[in-house]
Amino acid sequence: MVKPSGSSKEASVSCDMCRKEVPLSEAVIPEAADYVAHFCGLDCYSQWKKQSEHARQRGEKAKK
Ligand SMILES: [Zn+2]
Repeated sequence: MVKPSGSSKEASVSCDMCRKEVPLSEAVIPEAADYVAHFCGLDCYSQWKKQSEHARQRGEKAKK
């Protein structure tokens, strides 16, 4: 499964969850993030989303 050479070098990013490198064109980029995050797939994205939502809820509850 090797892509034929000849195509220009594609930019790649590392997944924010598993650190796997993925081509920028295939990365999942959430639109509602406070910062730019990249994920190798929807699985990692949903995991990250769960974590961030959980963290946000904890932050609101910690507020007095
Ligand atoms: Zn990943």
